[in-house]
Amino acid sequence: MSKILLPTSTAGSLPKPSWLAEPEKLWSEWKFEGDELLQAKQDALLVSLAEQTHAGIDIVSDGEQTRQHFVTTFIEHLDGVDFNQRETVRIRNRYDASVPSVVGEVSRPKSVFVDDAKFLRAHTDKLIKWALPGPMTMIDTLYDGHYKSREKLAWEFAKILNEEARELEAAGVDIIQFDEPAFNVFFDEVNDWGVATLERAIEGLKCQTAVHICYGYGIKANTDWKQTLGNEWRQYEESFPKLQQSKIDIVSLECQNSHVPMDLIELIRGKTVMVGAIDVATNQIETPEQVADTLRKALQFVDADKLYPSTNCGMAPLSRTVARGKLNALSEGAAIVRRELLGK
Ligand SMILES: [Zn+2]
Repeated sequence: MSKILLPTSTAGSLPKPSWLAEPEKLWSEWKFEGDELLQAKQDALLVSLAEQTHAGIDIVSDGEQTRQHFVTTFIEHLDGVDFNQRETVRIRNRYDASVPSVVGEVSRPKSVFVDDAKFLRAHTDKLIKWALPGPMTMIDTLYDGHYKSREKLAWEFAKILNEEARELEAAGVDIIQFDEPAFNVFFDEVNDWGVATLERAIEGLKCQTAVHICYGYGIKANTDWKQTLGNEWRQYEESFPKLQQSKIDIVSLECQNSHVPMDLIELIRGKTVMVGAIDVATNQIETPEQVADTLRKALQFVDADKLYPSTNCGMAPLSRTVARGKLNALSEGAAIVRRELLGK
């Protein structure tokens, strides 16, 4: 869909300015309220867009400036979930967290991100990508005292996500991405109903659709978990065959500094692949040559017109300086390989 060879993008989030929320932290509190908060979020979105544009990123996003968290913020806008009634559950089999409860039928009384998407659309002519949480990752951050079935709740969320996605498409979003880090953990469920609920979420969409599957932000619980995975991370092997057969257009995955064997990309042959060439779990800024090297390796398994250079995951927990450096490295690294491919 992109006319540019190797179009660059980010997996989603970018750091927030310190005047909006405490930086380098997840679930950071807003520093404004009401109308002032609305204005401040929009200003931050414009700053984030300017930084992406300045770095030469081809497919831009809102940097997730208007949300506290990639899953929670969406759920906050739904009926049927009580944020005051909290229970402790284990998230992605990795760490315990106090989470809200599903107390009745879930529904979306009004759109969640559509105004933000219209605002972004009005400020750029570039392709825009919008991230939503995937159904399986949503259910994994909740205590369900109503449906008492992970699968049932996932189907309900898929229906709701589809409503939101259709409105985002109408607002001019070019790529809608569903974040499903849970796909790297619950393999049986992915095959039984995970991919099916994801396909329900994209039903009827004409824009491009993506799924982002990763090993998480660079927070301690995730880096500790990664230590237990051994030398070769083959988790993608479980979900890729099913995704290869699905209607999803793009698969976003983690490749930089990860122990994912690059040849696993072969399992999604035919799909467009957003290749993570920026490690978000370290403050060390990649050199353009390191980025180029990862992209060259990926090119052995994905055709050049289907390779979209990206980041491993969101950069919300990083400092703005580091994130800016990484955006530049991504852009410059992609440019090196683009020149090689075009022979100039
Ligand atoms: Zn991620």
